[in-house]
Amino acid sequence: MRPLPELTDENHAFWTGGERGELMIAFCKDCAAAIHPPQLVCPRCLGESVTPRPVTGTGAVYTFTVNHQPWHPDMAVPFALAVVDIDGAPGVRVTAQVIDADPEAVRIGQRMEIAFEQSDDVWLPLWRPSR
Ligand SMILES: [Zn+2]
Repeated sequence: MRPLPELTDENHAFWTGGERGELMIAFCKDCAAAIHPPQLVCPRCLGESVTPRPVTGTGAVYTFTVNHQPWHPDMAVPFALAVVDIDGAPGVRVTAQVIDADPEAVRIGQRMEIAFEQSDDVWLPLWRPSR
């Protein structure tokens, strides 16, 4: 059992979009900025017309780390955590665990696609190598 995020008005779309298989990113309608972590007010122009919309759910590994420390009793190690530049959301990077891959084989620039794992009312994002 992983620790789960607390759902708020700001982050609800991000953490529940996985129910529909959608990676939801907040965008400002005034200046088009992609905003992550999600906020109700745009940090760039202070506009309040921020709404989430689905992106493709693909991207490229910006950086990653391989974790060998079992921080939680139920945590299987080793695993890779990747920070991925999101296609269609300039400047947005989403950090998540990599699945369906040898942790030692993850590389910077590697193409990834989103997957989700439901836990209670949250759909945790995961990265898997693109096929
Ligand atoms: Zn804005």
